[in-house]
Amino acid sequence: MYFFGQKRKYLYLCRVNKKIMPKEETLHISGIQVHITRKAIKGTYLSVKPPNGTVSIRTPFKAPKSVIRYLVTEKLPWIRRQQARYAAQEREQPKQYCAGETHLLLGKHRTLHLIPTDGYPKVTPHGEDQLHFHIDPEAPTTMKAQHLDAFYEEILRNQIPPLAAKWHQTIPNLPTYIITIKRMKRRWGSCHSLKKHICLNVALAKYPLPFLELVFVHELVHLFEANHSPRFYDLMDQYHPQWRKVDRELKKLSIGFATCQ
Ligand SMILES: [Zn+2]
Repeated sequence: MYFFGQKRKYLYLCRVNKKIMPKEETLHISGIQVHITRKAIKGTYLSVKPPNGTVSIRTPFKAPKSVIRYLVTEKLPWIRRQQARYAAQEREQPKQYCAGETHLLLGKHRTLHLIPTDGYPKVTPHGEDQLHFHIDPEAPTTMKAQHLDAFYEEILRNQIPPLAAKWHQTIPNLPTYIITIKRMKRRWGSCHSLKKHICLNVALAKYPLPFLELVFVHELVHLFEANHSPRFYDLMDQYHPQWRKVDRELKKLSIGFATCQ
């Protein structure tokens, strides 16, 4: 009996695991490679992902292939547009953090100078067009990337208080919120509207201030409206009437972090 009971339990676990483990497959539809993930969800969701315009579909386990083919065929013009947009994005080359390399800071190119040090590494802007990187020149690239990120984070931490002072006057009744700055691969910012927690991509320090301002305001508006609903865009139009123009410029950039890691 004991063995039987164990066996039943084992079979039951197998059934549960089979139910929850996603299944992956690939289809070729109208010349496009489509990555399909079947999982325990109700709807079917199509996405085109940067940087290469990979087409992915998340769908229930039992969704027929004919439905997936129909969806992709119907959305083909939109898929092509997204892929063309990603292809046209300005993409940074992977950085080596060597002397003479250029790095962006608030929209301006600066030349990197490596200054050997035995102390704790740090980065400082120098003049109008230089960055002094005090570090062991032989340090690994990943370590150099981390210290440059720490520098970018400090830049953002200095930029945010004046932005907050400005936008807290424009947007009334903002709840108390917290901000985290971190490296993100796919998003410029995010907002957990229930936890009142905004995350900003540290890479925003590379680009002109209006980009940081746009993402900041976007996430502030998410504190009132979690989704990209018509109300969300009404609020954006109301508080930041120029946002669409800045957004078009921001969309020309890729986040471009994947190759650095
Ligand atoms: Zn959003």
